[in-house]
Amino acid sequence: MDEESAKKDLSRRRFLEIGSAALASASVISAENAQAQAQESAVKAEKDQSATIRGPQNAPLTAANHDSVVPPITDHGNVPPFKYPFSYSHRRTHEGGWARQVTIQDLPVSTTLAGVNMRLTAGGIRELHWHTAAEWALMLYGNARITALDADGKGFVSDVKQGDLWNFPSGIPHSIQGLGPDGCEFLLVFDEGGFSEYDTILISDLLAHTPRSVVAKNFGVSEAELDSMPKGELFIFQADLPGSLEEDRRAVAGSIGLSPVQFDFRLMEQPPAKKTKSGDVRIVDSTIFKASTTIAAALVTLHPGGLREIHWHPNADEWQYYVAGKGRMTVFAAAARARTMDFEAGDVGYVQKTLPHYIENTGDTDLIFLEMFKSGSYQDISLSEWISHTPPELIAAHLHLAKATIEAIPKKNVAVMPV
Ligand code: MN
Ligand code: MN
Repeated sequence: MDEESAKKDLSRRRFLEIGSAALASASVISAENAQAQAQESAVKAEKDQSATIRGPQNAPLTAANHDSVVPPITDHGNVPPFKYPFSYSHRRTHEGGWARQVTIQDLPVSTTLAGVNMRLTAGGIRELHWHTAAEWALMLYGNARITALDADGKGFVSDVKQGDLWNFPSGIPHSIQGLGPDGCEFLLVFDEGGFSEYDTILISDLLAHTPRSVVAKNFGVSEAELDSMPKGELFIFQADLPGSLEEDRRAVAGSIGLSPVQFDFRLMEQPPAKKTKSGDVRIVDSTIFKASTTIAAALVTLHPGGLREIHWHPNADEWQYYVAGKGRMTVFAAAARARTMDFEAGDVGYVQKTLPHYIENTGDTDLIFLEMFKSGSYQDISLSEWISHTPPELIAAHLHLAKATIEAIPKKNVAVMPV
């Protein structure tokens, strides 16, 4: 190395040292500045040519996903999508009704719960069956008759209507049949993300795959008497309307009586757990719905402009179903990562355990949605409640807020902010 080159090399090294020392001492401010610059750039881009879209686009989807196309400037980083509309699901249609599902295959973040949307005509039957997952249901429309057998071998029959729930624990055999005048539609939630409604144990399928001689021996009847049995699964099929509930209950009770387990629940007969002028929350878990030992739920109603306050769930992931209206949710995923997505009736959302989120009604009608958890108990922690139950000086030292501002923050978890 000649003298000239050596000088250059030294000065380059000094420059690098000074540069890295200055960066280290100002690293916090630099990170803040970088973020501020990125936000400023995004705001400018929205006002000039930079944010225009000139290529092809799916206009209805673009319109319905404003917060993805034009994200709030606070969104940042790579957060996997947490939305899947039932409209994308394959609809499996039979004479008597249909089914469609959203599982971990469709929505990879949804590891703990899966959902099924199903319609049955008047008389249409979802075949007698059971499965490894527990099944929680919300009736969305119409009327249905449900049957089950409890673990002590006692039968259960009940009629459910819009707003009612049921829960069949793992392995409990059951059926659903649409009643008059127009059958029913419902949402099922299962406590396994990989659950498939198309891989359940069906009575017809079981008997079609057991040697006929064994079935005859098992039931104590002749093989000839079994000739009329189906050769494969029925899944959903059309049948005649059932008789009266009283008749069915008498037949099921036999000499040992009906099951003491209440597998259904009248959600709308319970007063909301929390209510403000902007909406309410109905919470249902195993403390009031005893049969629902592995699944907890909250049904939230937000009036236009209403906000489900910033909160998180310490004990479980949240699987959501949007029943009515329009809203948006931001999920903060740590390390400056945040994403906002838009939701409307028929969409599924998902939030991983402990990640903070809010839901805001962005439409002009009520936003109604379900929060579902794989847990026997419902738990949430409110950001406001945490702040207001922490020494105010400690909060001021972090957030640089005036004392009066800290005092104005709500003192308890109201769930729905009155706005
Ligand atoms: Mn089932
Ligand atoms: Mn939540």
